[in-house]
Amino acid sequence: MLLTITTTHQSASDLSWLLHKQPDKCQAFSLGFGTAYVFYPQVSDTECSACLLLDVDPVALVRGRPGALESGPLDQYVNDRPYVVSSLMSVAISRVFASALNGTCNRRPELIDREFPLVAKLEVLPCRGGEGLLDGLFAPLGYGIEATRCPLDPVFSQWGESPYFSVALSKTTTLQTLLTQLYVLIPVLDNYKHYYVGESELTKLLEKGHRWLGGHPQREIITRRYLKYQGRLARRAIECLEEGDPSFQDIANPSPTEQQLEEPPKLNQQRMGAVIAALKAAGAKHVIDLGCGEGRLLRTLLSDKSFGRIAGMDVSSRTLERAAARLKLEELPDRQRKRIELIHGSLMYRDQRLTGYDAATVVEVIEHLEAYQLIAFERVLFEFARPQTVVLTTPNGEYNGKWAHIGATGKRHRDHRFEWTRDQFNSWADTICARFGYRARVLGIGETDEALGAPTQLGIFSQDINGGAQ
Ligand code: SAH
Repeated sequence: MLLTITTTHQSASDLSWLLHKQPDKCQAFSLGFGTAYVFYPQVSDTECSACLLLDVDPVALVRGRPGALESGPLDQYVNDRPYVVSSLMSVAISRVFASALNGTCNRRPELIDREFPLVAKLEVLPCRGGEGLLDGLFAPLGYGIEATRCPLDPVFSQWGESPYFSVALSKTTTLQTLLTQLYVLIPVLDNYKHYYVGESELTKLLEKGHRWLGGHPQREIITRRYLKYQGRLARRAIECLEEGDPSFQDIANPSPTEQQLEEPPKLNQQRMGAVIAALKAAGAKHVIDLGCGEGRLLRTLLSDKSFGRIAGMDVSSRTLERAAARLKLEELPDRQRKRIELIHGSLMYRDQRLTGYDAATVVEVIEHLEAYQLIAFERVLFEFARPQTVVLTTPNGEYNGKWAHIGATGKRHRDHRFEWTRDQFNSWADTICARFGYRARVLGIGETDEALGAPTQLGIFSQDINGGAQ
């Protein structure tokens, strides 16, 4: 299956900057279910074409998948999947052209919002619903459409037409818009998805579609087909799109996260860096992130091969859905996918799933717990899960005085139950060590003020082999 994107914009080679792919190379990307190749059949100042060729391995597609044998022994090998543009192409777009799809171009940021005359050719595109559906989906978005129906077999014309088309879509638009609309609408035309459709697909649809899907006359068909006729999900998507549901706003235009509101973004990066450094210094391989939120730390852990098994745990299922979407779990190659697990659970309860990791991280979580919850958490983590290393961060309340909008008495977030001083954190760490047989090192993260200390407090707890729990 082949997607060719052509522009006659001048200078046409700007396309390669946006795609983050060098025009003089043929590059290959392994995707788990096959290989994607990117190459440029033509590059000149006046015209540039980039191809994304997807070579699907039909065996890799079914190997080890639940339900692989349900459809009969041959169906999984003898089918159109390796040959047609399908949801696999959407996955390839999101993986190989991730920066262009997400609208980032660090080297030439001025190109992101620039509209180009673009033509996307798709070979061969199944249109289950016929040519009418193709028009119905793309014409309202302003595309010019040229579609040629492929015969089932050119030698036996009496067998009639196939549901497959050679399609060229043209529009003057940003590359991000083109890729986003292809990403959503290709699986809609194919009406088949190669993976399980759950909440995270709803999030993806809203993220990708919020700018253009709400006003699309075929939004119901698009939503139902994209979400594989899961009525409940489709209804929620339509409601969100039509009514501007606040939770949708939340997904589509994420409000600044807690850390962004209260702190310079740099501090968050420094915090993640300090946590990773502490994990490495402790030689941790298998790590569980407790109260993982939307998976910021998990993403870094996943991208670092020195870590093996990774898990994220959170009490909020909605947050975990977002983490799954942000980490693109369903699109990860099998080997990567097997490394990571998301666990829905509470830190209040002893849980077997939290055991077996070298290290646990608890980043900006404890300050959300009520005093009685903190007591339960202490036993759940340090007595029952009992990893070799615990890396924990929490705000330094003293530092708040430096931020005018918070003030010396206020808190950084309305959900924080406490923000400890350095003395309070040190004495809590001492108590934990004495009760559970750990040793602790306490450090500051971020720019240190002579009087008030650093904005974030970091505690690194290691099991004390000499001293047992009290
Ligand atoms: N560690 C993440 C998120 C911090 S926000 C980061 O640094 O980005 C705090 C997180 O703790 C939220 O996602 C919240 O849902 C989670 N949380 C709060 N109480 C919890 C509990 N009892 N059990 C598990 N997670 C909890």
